[in-house]
Amino acid sequence: MLEFPHDVHTHTIYSDGVGEVGEVVTEAERKGLKLLGVSDHSHYLTERSIKKYLREIREWNGESEVTVLAGIEVNITSSGIDISPWAASKFDYVIASVHEWLEAPSQYIGLVKMAFLNEDVDVIGHFGANFSYIGFPSGEEMQEVLELAESTGKAFEISSRYRVPEVDFVRECIRRGIKLVFASDAHRPKDVGNVSWSERIFKRAGGSKEDLLFWEFL
Ligand SMILES: [Zn+2]
Ligand SMILES: [Zn+2]
Repeated sequence: MLEFPHDVHTHTIYSDGVGEVGEVVTEAERKGLKLLGVSDHSHYLTERSIKKYLREIREWNGESEVTVLAGIEVNITSSGIDISPWAASKFDYVIASVHEWLEAPSQYIGLVKMAFLNEDVDVIGHFGANFSYIGFPSGEEMQEVLELAESTGKAFEISSRYRVPEVDFVRECIRRGIKLVFASDAHRPKDVGNVSWSERIFKRAGGSKEDLLFWEFL
């Protein structure tokens, strides 16, 4: 059983997931989550489907014991995040992730730093998921990232799918008062709520309830 039963990074058929919103909610109930966030990819959503997506999530939130939030996972590209301020304002929270292939860690850090400066962004998704491929940023770059997160009030997810960030980074977030969230990044209903790695790292880093972005729902 999870002590902080939440998962705010899940995908449905509104993007590249295979489950309906209802199936994702049902699995969250089965796993005993208190909070579920649906966060489909921005590049699959249109103005029209956003309305349907939001309506469906709001309906499930009303019907379920689980608090269901409407999130979105946007892409951080060299020209910014791929969502309009109008669309961003419709969601409960915005996860911003780097998905493009990059040559060097400094490019990745540059993109993340840009996302920090965007006020529509709430959470940085799977930070460092590709460091083992593109190389690790310098200590100085990591320091800059932490300072920006702290000063802009952004959160990091602890991704059970990619197993990032590492415990020392999470410990440093907690020390600085940077908020954290648990994330399965499930693309199949059965993976929803699979965040035991996130919780293990969070606890090992000394995290307590108030260090979680959505602690008031837990
Ligand atoms: Zn992602
Ligand atoms: Zn995702």
